[in-house]
Amino acid sequence: MNNQHFWLANSYLGSRPVGDVWIADEQSAARRTALRQHNLAYFCQYCGTVWARVTYDRASSRWEICARACSEHGMTPLDAEVAGSLRSSYPGVDPLKFARDWPPEAIKWEAELLLRKYELGLLNLETSDA
Ligand SMILES: [Zn+2]
Repeated sequence: MNNQHFWLANSYLGSRPVGDVWIADEQSAARRTALRQHNLAYFCQYCGTVWARVTYDRASSRWEICARACSEHGMTPLDAEVAGSLRSSYPGVDPLKFARDWPPEAIKWEAELLLRKYELGLLNLETSDA
């Protein structure tokens, strides 16, 4: 079994079971192209810190880097959407798409981060009823 592990700096947030591979979209499914899981490091482009990691029991041999502002340096309207978050910013299928089986501590982090952004007025909560 493969597990996905969530880390915030050096604090372990927990894990969940995932497959060894994932299929990105319908075209990939049609081509039978599956992607291997890869360990991911979140790199803040403002302070140079690797502020989070997502690792796998069975991952490809190369790490990937996600350049994303940490929660200390990304609290600006430009970066607020994803700053400090471990969630995928890609709208389709992704191993880091936010899901209810994320470890409770990772969900707690995401919820508190959203609340902090809300309190700072960084979230665009306008609805498009027109
Ligand atoms: Zn930073």
